[in-house]
Amino acid sequence: MGKVIDISSFKNYGLDEKLFASKINKIIAEDDIKKQYSLIFDYICDYIDSDMKIHNYCDFQNGRCIANRLGKSVHIENGCCYQFRVGLCKHLINGTCTNKNIACKIFMCSYLEKQKIKYDLDEIFPIKLFFNRKQISVLKRGFFKPKDEIINLLLKYKTK
Ligand code: SF4
Ligand code: SF4
Repeated sequence: MGKVIDISSFKNYGLDEKLFASKINKIIAEDDIKKQYSLIFDYICDYIDSDMKIHNYCDFQNGRCIANRLGKSVHIENGCCYQFRVGLCKHLINGTCTNKNIACKIFMCSYLEKQKIKYDLDEIFPIKLFFNRKQISVLKRGFFKPKDEIINLLLKYKTK
């Protein structure tokens, strides 16, 4: 049986109330930890994708984000999808990210940070109820890694 958790501790992202409640209840009631982690992962990604779409913070035009276009980035195109000493991220195909990665999604460059644009995972989802510090660090710092790899790390560090 899942934990008893106040639904208001989850942030809605434009879902109608019924769908929102059913998503949250599904996460809470899921007994299979791997499936539960996957649902949580998808929920957070969907929230950020939806919010980014609404606000259009990065404002991509022809493969160049606002920071690329204004010379506020070290790169002139493809946003900030570059890996140190590697180059363009292998998950970026035809200008589109083919991966799901929470660390990448919450990352804001200094140009956006100066405008106080920032995502706080705790405000989107009560992650401390489900994950310990090590697991939260995996979510926040596991840049570039595919979802399966992140989920396996979350399982590896599970203590709750
Ligand atoms: S975070 Fe900054 S550098 Fe990265 S895509 Fe958005 S505007 Fe561009
Ligand atoms: S995994 Fe991260 S760095 Fe790579 S394409 Fe996707 S968002 Fe960009």
